[in-house]
Amino acid sequence: MARTPLIAGNWKMHKAEREAEEYLQALLPRVAAAERTEVAICAPYTDLKALVESARGSRVEIYAQNMHERAEGAFTGEISAPMLSELGVRGVVLGHSERRELFCESDHALALKVPAALDAGLTPILCVGESEQERDEQLTQRKLRRQIAEDLVGVAADRLAELVIAYEPIWAIGTGRVASAEQAQEAIAFIRALLRSRDERAAEAVRILYGGSVKPDNAAELLALPDVDGALVGGASLQVESFAQIVAAAAR
Ligand code: PEP
Repeated sequence: MARTPLIAGNWKMHKAEREAEEYLQALLPRVAAAERTEVAICAPYTDLKALVESARGSRVEIYAQNMHERAEGAFTGEISAPMLSELGVRGVVLGHSERRELFCESDHALALKVPAALDAGLTPILCVGESEQERDEQLTQRKLRRQIAEDLVGVAADRLAELVIAYEPIWAIGTGRVASAEQAQEAIAFIRALLRSRDERAAEAVRILYGGSVKPDNAAELLALPDVDGALVGGASLQVESFAQIVAAAAR
């Protein structure tokens, strides 16, 4: 099955509205020709409305970086999936390792967030991946199996195909250390096999991205791997030039 590659830039807590707008205006012409590729910017909440309006009609979709699992309620400081959806946001990053580690986001919370995102019409990009210690102890597959089982427990087989999964080895995020082609391919093929055991057909439609120190000089090799359907890009998405080069590598 042909899966459309997705290149998603995760800005994390960078760029207030004016800088975000300037970036988008510079990016749009740079990615306009990337025909067989979807491009997403995962921006801070405060940028979302302006970016959605400026990106309307273009190839760039705007995603959030987190959301609460409930639609509304007494959850001070939180933002819900219907709130994002009403803004015109296309999707949301869920379970990034920074949220899991720094904000104690649990697999239980993700099991509620993923279906809540789907119900609101958002595309979830669910992040999974092992720490360096887990890799050293040959626990990578065990970690991936647990995260996929627990985080997707509330997703019915007929909705699986709407998911995007990002395989992000934690030791490669923001470190400049990138997974080798063999490591990335093996982990992503393993994730697809796990999905197949839920639903053969849906598993073929799920896009699985690689994330972890993707840069213009390593993107082409990673994106050419048979099971890699795109990239989740942190640091290199902060500059238009490097992000546009990664998009061009996917569109090749
Ligand atoms: C990320 O934050 O998801 C990420 C992959 O970051 P970086 O590209 O900087 O490693």
